[in-house]
Amino acid sequence: MLVKEEKILQTYFGYESFRPGQQDTIDHILQFNNTLAVMPTGGGKSLCYQIPGLSMDGTAIIISPLISLMKDQVDALQALGIPATFINSSLSTGEQQTRLRDVEKGRYKFVYVAPERFESGSFVNVIKRIPLALVAFDEAHCISQWGHDFRPSYRSIVPNLKRLSNIPVFVALTATATEEVISDIQELLTITDNHVVNTGFERANLSFHIVKGKDKSSYIRSFLDEHQEESGIIYTATRKQADALYDQLSKRGITVAKYHAGLSEEERKQAQSAFIHDEKSIMIATNAFGMGIDKSNVRYVIHYAMPMNIESYYQEAGRAGRDGEPSDCILLFSPQDVQLQKFLIEQSQMDDASKQNEYRKLQAMINYCHTHGCLTSFILDYFDDTVIKTTCGRCSNCVERQEKVDITEEAQMILSCVKRMGERFGVGMTAKVLKGSKDKKIKDFRLDKISTYGILSAYTEKELTERVHFLIAEQLLGTEEGQYPTLRLNKNSVDVLKGNRHVEMYTAPIPTSDDADYHEDLFTELRVLRKQIADEKNVPPYVLFSDATLKELSRYFPT
Ligand code: ADP
Ligand code: MG
Ligand code: ZN
Repeated sequence: MLVKEEKILQTYFGYESFRPGQQDTIDHILQFNNTLAVMPTGGGKSLCYQIPGLSMDGTAIIISPLISLMKDQVDALQALGIPATFINSSLSTGEQQTRLRDVEKGRYKFVYVAPERFESGSFVNVIKRIPLALVAFDEAHCISQWGHDFRPSYRSIVPNLKRLSNIPVFVALTATATEEVISDIQELLTITDNHVVNTGFERANLSFHIVKGKDKSSYIRSFLDEHQEESGIIYTATRKQADALYDQLSKRGITVAKYHAGLSEEERKQAQSAFIHDEKSIMIATNAFGMGIDKSNVRYVIHYAMPMNIESYYQEAGRAGRDGEPSDCILLFSPQDVQLQKFLIEQSQMDDASKQNEYRKLQAMINYCHTHGCLTSFILDYFDDTVIKTTCGRCSNCVERQEKVDITEEAQMILSCVKRMGERFGVGMTAKVLKGSKDKKIKDFRLDKISTYGILSAYTEKELTERVHFLIAEQLLGTEEGQYPTLRLNKNSVDVLKGNRHVEMYTAPIPTSDDADYHEDLFTELRVLRKQIADEKNVPPYVLFSDATLKELSRYFPT
């Protein structure tokens, strides 16, 4: 015999079985435990409150941050014959009142509202008096200031709601939750650890790619040539970028839709509808597009520029492949992207503490673009996923893996240079010192006088920059948070300097024969250089620091 919830799943929704986490979430809610469900985008979070809502007495209130999102959900429920409605500012006052009266009469099983609705006395008066099944917070990360989409109004209604005696149970749902966000939501809504259902974030059908050092527009054009029939989203970092790319592609006769906050509501509506109904297969948009969009057949999401943090990236990229079919998430990276994001943080109205937090998250995003490890693992690790994996076999780093080279000694030189520069400078200056650049700033700071000046002059400044970023990405070198992050040694750096830890890097692309010679020359040169320094300073060649200095460093970073 079927349990009741499973029967609802099949008869109302027409699905065979539950997806991971759905059953547990539903069980917790039906036992009146406040519950948090953390599931990937497309994981099926809506069902987690819809099924309990259907099997419990009373009305379920769903608080949702976006108006567009409510209508889709309500339409879907109505199509299944379930009485549902939304009340928001897109309706006339008269219509709002009519719907509210129907809510009062208990005509709806599901009522969707924005958090601001609770600022209205008449609404609160109604829901105080009617039997309620549950109150659900969709996109619950919005209630946390650690989340990437914090909405103060979302947070401020919680204490008042908790005082209402007729709410049997709270439900929170999100696809994006770092540990801090999870515990923030838990605390706010009184959700105990055993009622957090976290299915992990991995979406096994998504392949992540980083594309660096290519002309972005021509990359996109040739990509689109090969994927003409497929539906996809191209995210840009700014409206200006969206406009430019839209014009460029349109001029070439490619049919594209465009969506950003600078367009009128009507234009946005049309663009969204053309995309959802497959009249236009390509959507060029800023992050204004997409929250709660349920289009299942998106085959790729391209980021024209690096977004500001991994939370947003994963959420946006995650709009690909909601139907479970293999899909690509491609990030086109250029160093200017970093400057742009910093600019956006600086321009924002945030207080200093929030800015610091944004810089910290930005650094993780930058690291993602520079890691040589598996991209999927990097993301899972960022979200503190418990599943430990080293390779997914799908991402660009797993697939395009080249020869591994040991760069331990270069790493030691770089780290010792950072130390000798007084840990007061960023990536750019460090690369210049290693290169032995004649830049005026180097002279001004007397950095040409330190012993590691020009120690890696055989490399280009660009190669050195890449290596420093790589060390940061692998957490072998730390950074101070801020607009101009300075480099700092960390515990791992000391391990590398002591020779206790080897550093390996993948060469990409495979060197041509000329390159191979070049690298060989380089290494010979380096060996000579190392020996010279070692002789001169009378320290072990792999270290470049005296034992005393190393000991002192170890004291800062005890094991
Ligand atoms: P989320 O809110 O987690 O991003 P949704 O609740 O919008 O995801 O669900 C995504 C899609 O998965 C929807 O089309 C939904 O109908 C479908 N879905 C949800 N649960 C199941 C299930 N158990 N079996 C099959 N499809 C499901
Ligand atoms: Mg959802
Ligand atoms: Zn991988």
